[in-house]
Amino acid sequence: MGVGGNFWSSLKPYARREDLDFLRNKRVAIDLSFWIVQQETALRNRASNPHIRLTFFRTVNLFSKFGAYPVFVVDGLPSPLKARARIQRFFRGIDLGNLRVVEGDGDCASVERNEVFRKCVRECVELLQILGMPVLKAASEAEALCAQLNNEGHVDAVFTSDSDAFLYGAKCVIKCLHPNSKDPFECYHMSDIEAGLGLKRMHLVAISLLVGNDHDMNGVPGIGIETALSFVRMFPEEDILNRLHEMGKGEFLLSLNDDKSPSSSGIPSSNDNSPKTKSPHCSHCGHPGSKRAHLKVACEYCCVSGNENCLKKAVGFRCECPSCIKDRSSKAHDKQENWIRSICSKISVKKDFPNDEIIKMYLGHDQDDFTDLCAGDKSPCLSWRSPDVETVIDFLGYHQHWDPSYVRQRILPMLSTIFLREMASNPTEGSLLHEQYEFNSIQRVKIRYGHPFYLVSWRRVGPAVGSVCSPVQNEQVTQQKEFMEAHEQIDSLDEADVPEILSMMAAGFC
Ligand SMILES: [Zn+2]
Ligand SMILES: [Zn+2]
Ligand SMILES: [Zn+2]
Repeated sequence: MGVGGNFWSSLKPYARREDLDFLRNKRVAIDLSFWIVQQETALRNRASNPHIRLTFFRTVNLFSKFGAYPVFVVDGLPSPLKARARIQRFFRGIDLGNLRVVEGDGDCASVERNEVFRKCVRECVELLQILGMPVLKAASEAEALCAQLNNEGHVDAVFTSDSDAFLYGAKCVIKCLHPNSKDPFECYHMSDIEAGLGLKRMHLVAISLLVGNDHDMNGVPGIGIETALSFVRMFPEEDILNRLHEMGKGEFLLSLNDDKSPSSSGIPSSNDNSPKTKSPHCSHCGHPGSKRAHLKVACEYCCVSGNENCLKKAVGFRCECPSCIKDRSSKAHDKQENWIRSICSKISVKKDFPNDEIIKMYLGHDQDDFTDLCAGDKSPCLSWRSPDVETVIDFLGYHQHWDPSYVRQRILPMLSTIFLREMASNPTEGSLLHEQYEFNSIQRVKIRYGHPFYLVSWRRVGPAVGSVCSPVQNEQVTQQKEFMEAHEQIDSLDEADVPEILSMMAAGFC
């Protein structure tokens, strides 16, 4: 989803694979609905409540294994078109059991589908909140707010596979996570797209108007992604949307027809208004002049190479005399002008093009309006708290029927990450992990995906006293590398789970 015409494949050459440390101590905004859609698609019916299961494991992994500070974003009121597309993806291939769902998009079915999806989102939000993660609710589209947070420097990257994010101003989009890889993050940087494709944000907005997007699936009939890419690149970023408006009204086409020097309409021109008459050329050597004259004296072009006679022209010969050069460039110009004319006429027949609402949506800053679901207010201050372990145990016991000891074991990496961060920023003698454990030893080092992981043992030194709720503020902690790595081996997955979960995650992320 996002920009139509398989826009992602045009960006593919600019994908970068980043290593395990890419997100370490960085903030990343996650489009939660998109995550859930991917999880469901990957897992189908193979696990109960897959959205809860994988939201839990991924969050623990992102936070502990990759050392990131995730910020989750949920949709406010997405546009109806977009919501429908998303729900359809969510339910693709899922057995709805006894849910009263009729095939097609009957009203009753879509309302019910919507409700099921919203319930999944609500459950994930509840879990994320008790895990201590910040959750924001966008005014409209989640990826719009993710992008805005990135654009304004509140987060370093956006996790979504919606290419709209760039149009909303995102600078770094993580499209896929390949957890089994040495370089697990597949990222796209706006700076690479600008440098490689010569496209800036307005250009991308223009492309989406031409080839279609989540809010206007059709775009301009007859214009594909390659055409759109080459076309918008002809105009400077600050000009392109105005030009599209002129084209939509047919004014641009008129100015092309009226004006023989179309440079005034913004199109590169050969600046040549002289009559297109080519002087006679010799059929033997291909240069200006006549064959008969050249038989007497070699022409000036052939002379240059020290020949007494004209040479027979080679296959594929191109005459480089001024008149031929001019002729070729004028033909190329005519060809380009016809191409532009055909695009403009396609645009001019599309009703109400370009759609100002869509432009406003991509460029407007009405995303400013969002709610921090954790703080319950509009404060943009992002903070990460320690998980409320007992409530997480209750939640997962209720929804997943997991044993309290299993949950404690799985959540330990988060607790140890928080503990080690605190130790690194403010070393305090005698502080304990989860108020019960102290660091015992590094048992062994193992290399996974080219990175060293330390298997750490913790020693229990006393009974639980009170609850663990030491707040972790959002300052950037520069901990000793050794310290950070020490926790990483505490995998959130037990041995039996590893092949299953890893393969599911690999599928789920892409
Ligand atoms: Zn000749
Ligand atoms: Zn010659
Ligand atoms: Zn010539």
